[in-house]
Amino acid sequence: MRAKGWRELIREDFWPPPFCPGCGHGILMGAIMRAIVQTGLDPSRVALVAGIGCAGWIPTYIACDTLHTPHGRAIPHAAGIALTRPDLRVIVIGGDGDLSSIGGNHLIHAARRDLPLTVLCANNAIYGMTGGQTSPTTPPGERTATAPRGVGERPFDLCALVAGAGAGFVARGTVVRPQALEGLLGKALGHPGFSFVEVLTPCPTQVGRRKGLSPVDHLRTLGERTVPLARWRTLPSEERAARIPVGILRGGDEEGSWT
Ligand code: SF4
Repeated sequence: MRAKGWRELIREDFWPPPFCPGCGHGILMGAIMRAIVQTGLDPSRVALVAGIGCAGWIPTYIACDTLHTPHGRAIPHAAGIALTRPDLRVIVIGGDGDLSSIGGNHLIHAARRDLPLTVLCANNAIYGMTGGQTSPTTPPGERTATAPRGVGERPFDLCALVAGAGAGFVARGTVVRPQALEGLLGKALGHPGFSFVEVLTPCPTQVGRRKGLSPVDHLRTLGERTVPLARWRTLPSEERAARIPVGILRGGDEEGSWT
């Protein structure tokens, strides 16, 4: 039976979630709950699968079936559920380290195989839970626990990665715009094959503190850097390079080049 409101999806036995003050994961968790309600999914027919990391805690607090798996292995476990129980909507939730480093091979092959999964990647560009190590999405020059003089490697563009691997629906949102994010999650959940949403989110503890940014300034910075795709396309090229387009990048009306 579909939920009447998102509060029905709070798993009260476990509440409250353990996120640091100012973390974006709570906003993402709320957006997931509201998207499940708004798309009319029956929560008893939704399976949430996570690996390890702060984002991997999100399913624990949502009253759907949940599976917590080893680091990087959420997608193969989710694939097993989706292929044996096609009546379930299977959602994978993880961070950039979990899904694109340890689990990176699973991610590209799930996209290539068009597995019926929705993968939500909370990208804060760091390993948050384990102490602020460089992840595959940490920007060049950023100082981290494992790169005290600054990261010297190129980061993944996760949306381009999964689109290149064949994903049918690709979107990027941010916790700074929770209503727009909710809409993107709803569209991803309505896509019949593999869908991917990158969710840009701050980690005030491992990134903000190192940069001397307050949680509010961290959110503000993220908000200033991100621009809706239609507007991003109208910007001069040098400004486009400094901004990050958000919206439906593949599988929507505005599909087209964004890199
Ligand atoms: S370490 Fe970072 S990602 Fe993890 S809960 Fe704290 S703020 Fe959020």
